[in-house]
Amino acid sequence: MIYDVIIIGGGAAGMRTAIQAKKNNKSVLVIEHGDRVGRKILSTGNGRCNLTNMNCRVDLFDRNPEGIYPYFTIGDRSFVEEVIGISDCRDTLVFFGGLGLLFEIKNDFVYPRSGQASSVLDALRFACEDAGVEFILNYQPISIIKNENGFNIDNSYYSRKLVIAAGGNSACKSGSDGSGYELARLFGHQIIKPRPALCGINCSDKFFKALAGVRNDSTVKLFADGKEVIRATGNLQFNDYGLSGIPVFQISSDFGRLNESGCRLSLSVDLLPEFAEDELILAVKANPHLLGILNKKLTAVILKMSDGLAESKVKLIKHFIATPNSLRSFDESQVTAGGVSTDEINPKTMMSRLIDGLYFAGEIIDVNGICGGYNLQWAWSTGQIAGNSI
Ligand SMILES: Cc1cc2nc3c(=O)[nH]c(=O)nc-3n(C[C@H](O)[C@H](O)[C@H](O)COP(=O)(O)OP(=O)(O)OC[C@H]3O[C@@H](n4cnc5c(N)ncnc54)[C@H](O)[C@@H]3O)c2cc1C
Repeated sequence: MIYDVIIIGGGAAGMRTAIQAKKNNKSVLVIEHGDRVGRKILSTGNGRCNLTNMNCRVDLFDRNPEGIYPYFTIGDRSFVEEVIGISDCRDTLVFFGGLGLLFEIKNDFVYPRSGQASSVLDALRFACEDAGVEFILNYQPISIIKNENGFNIDNSYYSRKLVIAAGGNSACKSGSDGSGYELARLFGHQIIKPRPALCGINCSDKFFKALAGVRNDSTVKLFADGKEVIRATGNLQFNDYGLSGIPVFQISSDFGRLNESGCRLSLSVDLLPEFAEDELILAVKANPHLLGILNKKLTAVILKMSDGLAESKVKLIKHFIATPNSLRSFDESQVTAGGVSTDEINPKTMMSRLIDGLYFAGEIIDVNGICGGYNLQWAWSTGQIAGNSI
């Protein structure tokens, strides 16, 4: 049988593409090398699945509420604008609402009302089943040949169109092991070097051993060659290797890019962002042991590093300096920066500019978002567009 479309990868983007192609009456086969589809969706949003963000309109997405970093990191911003201009969070609500899902929206972050990521996966699985999408599990394509009739996968599976939606290289246990990049390379596509993103950062300072386990609401600022490039606020986690937690995840993509370009990088942490420096000096003068202000482990490090004066303690609290080295591993990252170059994909259709009939969807493309539902939104947007243009 020759399918209208074969989709490689049964993740968020692959299933979204399959459902959209089925709406257009196409015969669809999804080839998944894992033993089940959508495994990664189950671990999203701490098991609750933050499936999109209401703050993703084209006119808003290029700056976050702190006004400093973009929602999506890419080489070419117009590519993302084009994609999000065609399909955004409103389309996601209409799509999942149509599958029966109810939502809970907290500060623009959208979750299923059930609070369970499995609801999102089930909605996709049932929709695929109802529409007649076929699945082959535990199968990894080795050779794919394009001829005048379409695509021939290992002389076993044939289709007129092919979609590569195999994800990136992050959280490999959920199936995305980077093998999709090899498939894209088979067709001559350029892969922008993949890097872990939304992950912790290794630091070289000795005090981290003593701080392991501490959490503190902080603002983290990344400096490159002495200039602040990005900042993020949230619950910071100290580990024996360095820093993690949401504010570090949010700056990790920029850190990775700048670190590779050879900039001199440092992190400055404001451990009490809700207090101005002058009011803190008065408070610390009245409380020289810093009682009840910060976690005891942090207090001990600050008292040891300071010269005893209130000004020096406050400087350490408001500008706690860490020396970042490298990103944590792909396995510990939530998404992959880099991937198939956006120069070689048409954002209006998601079709390759090199190979007629070949499409890409999801994280395999050189676009990654910050935490907050943007990465799944990217999977839904690109899947909807690919499924429609097929
Ligand atoms: C812990 C964690 C939490 C996250 N939380 C959120 C969140 O709350 N909100 C959000 O927006 N994003 C979140 N993300 C990111 C989001 O999950 C991904 O960006 C999104 O799932 C990417 O979808 P995808 O379909 O492109 O790739 P994937 O979900 O990685 O799916 C790719 C699929 O392709 C299969 N595959 C790979 N290679 C092959 C091959 N060669 N042959 C056949 N099959 C193959 C894989 O097994 C997998 O099933 C989180 C990620 C992680 C790891």
